[in-house]
Amino acid sequence: MPNNKPVALVTGGSRGIGRGICQALGAEGFRVLVNYNSNLEAAEETCQMIQAAGGEAISCQADISHAEHRDLLLDFCMEHLGRLDLLVNNAGIAPPTRYDLLEMPPESFDLVVGTNLKAPFFLTQAAARLMIKQLEEKIIPSATIINVSSISAYAVSTNRGEYCISKAGVSMATALFAVELAKYGIRVYEIRPGIIETDMTAGVKKKYDKLIAEGFSPIKRWGKPEDIGKAVAALARGDLPFSTGEVINVDGGFHLRYF
Ligand code: NAP
Repeated sequence: MPNNKPVALVTGGSRGIGRGICQALGAEGFRVLVNYNSNLEAAEETCQMIQAAGGEAISCQADISHAEHRDLLLDFCMEHLGRLDLLVNNAGIAPPTRYDLLEMPPESFDLVVGTNLKAPFFLTQAAARLMIKQLEEKIIPSATIINVSSISAYAVSTNRGEYCISKAGVSMATALFAVELAKYGIRVYEIRPGIIETDMTAGVKKKYDKLIAEGFSPIKRWGKPEDIGKAVAALARGDLPFSTGEVINVDGGFHLRYF
């Protein structure tokens, strides 16, 4: 019997926000392809959590900043799962060192922009071609692409300018693909998280504990990976059928101007 359940590929699904997204999509009935770069153990744990909740998941190593890994990831998806209905571009890195804007070396720019912007841009390009073909051949009924950006897409942090630029670029990539792919029935969305409790923010926990307590966002708490998972699940279910290129802020209201 062929497995007719839809397939979701989540980059960086091994930990943090990606894991929250994978779990939500597993519960939503997607077969989840959990991509990771270096942490096989964490990726396997994500798969086991999905399976324990009655879902289906499989992991695949690929460094999305390498073109040939991106191709292999999509090949793996087709070979093992037979289709691709949903791509979630979640994997991302913070700059390994926070440099002042006037000191930031080109290597840090290339690493962060290469991973956070160039990689999802070209993975989306390749996945979109695949989705168009599958839609034409009626292998999948619909297709969706979701990009995880950040409040750093518009909020300035001069000690991690390359990160801000990468996330601002993800916003424009979302708009570009939303327009380009609408004619094929593929919807493209951007999820813009605020401060979320993961390994990425572990090193600045105390700083943000204080900021949040002082009113950094109207909702005074850390965001959780499951907050992002819930937003992705709503988009993946098709709850916003007449929207594309939409930005979903999952930031406790940080983006609001208020006094
Ligand atoms: P995290 O806890 O550091 O996890 C990063 C994930 O990305 C891991 O699964 C990691 O895989 C994967 N990854 C990193 N580089 C990769 C590569 N080259 N190829 C494939 N996978 C790679 O980060 P997070 O906080 O969950 O962040 C997830 C996304 O949300 C990022 O795009 C980040 O910029 C964005 N975001 C985070 C926050 C926040 O406050 N945490 C706020 C706004 C936006 P391994 O496990 O194998 O290392």
